[in-house]
Amino acid sequence: MIQLRDFCFRYRECSQPAVMDVNLDIPAGSFTGITGPAGSGKSMLTYALNGIVPYCYPGDFYGEVLIDGHDTCDTSLTDISRLVGSVCQDIDSQFVASVVEDEMLYGLENFGVAHELIPARVDEALEAMGIADLRDRLIASLSGGQKQKVAIASILALRPKVLVLDEPTAELDPASSRQVFLLLADYARRHGTTVVVVEQKIALLSEFADLLVIMQDGRVRFADAPAAVLARSEELLSIGVNCPRSTTLMNRLAAAGLYAGPVCTDVAQASRALLEVVA
Ligand code: ADP
Ligand code: MG
Repeated sequence: MIQLRDFCFRYRECSQPAVMDVNLDIPAGSFTGITGPAGSGKSMLTYALNGIVPYCYPGDFYGEVLIDGHDTCDTSLTDISRLVGSVCQDIDSQFVASVVEDEMLYGLENFGVAHELIPARVDEALEAMGIADLRDRLIASLSGGQKQKVAIASILALRPKVLVLDEPTAELDPASSRQVFLLLADYARRHGTTVVVVEQKIALLSEFADLLVIMQDGRVRFADAPAAVLARSEELLSIGVNCPRSTTLMNRLAAAGLYAGPVCTDVAQASRALLEVVA
């Protein structure tokens, strides 16, 4: 569904590329997580997928980005936005309406969705994000976390093949963040949507992602199944990416020859493994 070939982008006024040498293949219907330190190029990768580059930022674009076989450089921004729904990091800049329902209607009407289909799309998207009760609220009166859910719901209503989210849970506590991931993953499974999400919470990504991408200084440092990436917890720590402490603990025991089982990606696995170590 998504192919990046030697993708590189340099902002016009910068001497160094923001991202470089990015090669990624993301299968249809999969869930990809992207994390890495601040400034490592995570948002730039989302811009490559939603067409913000090359269309909105001046700069040099090298390589190829293909979405469902369409080269983004040969596809209009309008056509890209029909394939790729995206929720940007600064959600306040994304809202166009003042009431939640109007925000959802704006996108659907703009996309020319048949009028008789619109009410069901709105209901489904609000329910998918668990915010049916917010329908008539003023967006300005919502909490940061509620706004994030509204922004996601208004994109889900458009039924994009690819969903790109840049730090969608930044305003949410751990329990609500996990709830958003559960809702998203459930929606994506039912609709066959390909999901790409930038997220700081690596434990959360590991739980949901098929592919975990770690960015460092504009390059892909690791791109693999979450367990294979988390096996490198010491290297991740050295570039400023903190693995769950339970993962780091079990990796250290493994390095010391005290544990030989699989990488532990969550506390439950680690506590079971630890009981075997001490048995
Ligand atoms: P992340 O999302 O991982 O924090 P970004 O993709 O936002 O990183 O940034 C990648 C690099 O591009 C950083 O070095 C950042 O300073 C630079 N950058 C981001 N936005 C701009 C911009 N509008 N103009 C010039 N450089 C930028
Ligand atoms: Mg960012």
